[in-house]
Amino acid sequence: LQNKENYEPFICFYFRKISIDDFDIGRPLGKGKFGNVYLARVKKPQAIVALKVLFKSQMEKEGVEHQLRREIEIQAHLKHPNILRFYNYFHDRKRVFLVLEYAPRGEMYKELQRCGRFDDRRTATYMEEISDALMYCHEKKVIHRDIKPENLLLGYRGELKIADFGWSVHAPSLRRRTMCGTLDYLPPEMIEGHTHSEKVDLWCIGVLCYECLVGNPPFETASHSETYKRIMKVDLKFPKIVSDGARDLISKLLRHNPIDRLPLQSVIDHQWVRANSHRLLPPTCPVKKS
Ligand code: AMP
Repeated sequence: LQNKENYEPFICFYFRKISIDDFDIGRPLGKGKFGNVYLARVKKPQAIVALKVLFKSQMEKEGVEHQLRREIEIQAHLKHPNILRFYNYFHDRKRVFLVLEYAPRGEMYKELQRCGRFDDRRTATYMEEISDALMYCHEKKVIHRDIKPENLLLGYRGELKIADFGWSVHAPSLRRRTMCGTLDYLPPEMIEGHTHSEKVDLWCIGVLCYECLVGNPPFETASHSETYKRIMKVDLKFPKIVSDGARDLISKLLRHNPIDRLPLQSVIDHQWVRANSHRLLPPTCPVKKS
């Protein structure tokens, strides 16, 4: 069975109760903190999906049920070629199951480990894809807040898919003072515990762009306190391999003051992105006439 892009396997599915009996379970795709993710096939109408299984007991122990609820609520409303589709969910006594779009090329993090670093063409393509996806999120008042290679999956043709909205919020954030995200990607305003806006995502894509091109994040040190210091000072140094165009873009995103950061549309229009991006858009889905 082909994993057709833009295929909508759940249109009818959405409106009825589903259970594990609706699926044939395949190989495990990965292990998460609260359970495993499996490749699965919906029996009728046939479609390939990823089935994420979360154990209620483990989530209760960590007190993250509200986070999962928010993740489901947010992701269910997002529909964009560079955001992992959330199709449906169901639960039994012990487990919660999330029915998600399958990302055949896996994690960007693993790809980066395998390749060491990415070239300008690949990185610029990711920058265009992620900027477009985040523009869509921000229009819907959703801030991701946890952009990093571990939370990015790759689609059938290698296109970026934002996954894991576990830390995302509807802006303005009610949890404004919460520290979250991996240290290396934390923007200064989150370290200082100031209120933060959707501009945290601009900082994170600046860090991401650097990490893709260099192979490690820009403020990485052996200790947390040193990393904090380097972030606060925006102590940014580029190795020779980073091109002038990429330096210009990253420097315009990694600004201490959130209002000085380059807006997403300007990232897409940036001369280095335009010169290097080879973004492919999924073919549009033929609309069925009723
Ligand atoms: P998570 O619990 O979301 O961290 O997922 C654990 C691992 O399963 C990830 O690191 C991925 O390698 C894999 N995975 C999760 N979701 C998907 C998906 N939709 N498609 C393909 N692989 C996935």
